[in-house]
Amino acid sequence: MSEPVLEIAKLTKAYNRGQPSEIAVLKGVDLTVEQGEVVALVAPSGAGKSTLLHIAGLLDVADAGTLRLNGQDVAGLTDAARTALRRETVGFIYQFHHLLPEFSALENIVLPQLANGVANGAAHQKAENLLASVGLADRAAHRPAALSGGEQQRVAFCRALANAPRLLLADEPTGNLDPDTSDTVFGAMMDQVRGTGLSALIATHNLDLAARMDRAVRLEGGALVPV
Ligand code: ADP
Repeated sequence: MSEPVLEIAKLTKAYNRGQPSEIAVLKGVDLTVEQGEVVALVAPSGAGKSTLLHIAGLLDVADAGTLRLNGQDVAGLTDAARTALRRETVGFIYQFHHLLPEFSALENIVLPQLANGVANGAAHQKAENLLASVGLADRAAHRPAALSGGEQQRVAFCRALANAPRLLLADEPTGNLDPDTSDTVFGAMMDQVRGTGLSALIATHNLDLAARMDRAVRLEGGALVPV
């Protein structure tokens, strides 16, 4: 059996630790995401799903517990090693697209590859292939402002896949879209995820979307329970 992409055990996180205003957000989270598995993370607003996704993607640090990403225990890694592991392993997509407004759709997918040392020609080819795979081949030259909300999110999804991650972390990726567009964008995302064998942890309020993933977990009282 191959190693899980993400293995979290007894993870805790509090903000304002040691102060009267301390908020314990995660109180012992256990979660394993296997290779190729797509897990829905369901949680009411404020439950800590962004905190959990940021820790899982090495953008934040837990107070206690263990975290293995792509088989590697992240405890004790230097900042540089954490950054390298994140770049190699994780792709992020958020509720808002966060595309760079002065660059085209294509360039937004090329730039993170160049930052990762990919050659210019190969980066352009990969970006074109990704855009085509989500039905946006004819929008490559458009800047984000000239794209619809659903198109912007599809480009943001392509950018998340630009460096061939093992794990996609998504925070309400279709939360800003109308139901029909949300359905289309989610469908395009899932086709790609399934086609590449990528693992994903996708936060959503939408139980219909959660039902289309392999399983769902709910963040409740600082821990995860099956849905
Ligand atoms: P969700 O994504 O589920 O809405 P978050 O992970 O953003 O929840 O936040 C969980 C709780 O932690 C909230 O009560 C929030 O106010 C608090 N929180 C989040 N980030 C910080 C921070 N940097 N400092 C203090 N409190 C925070």
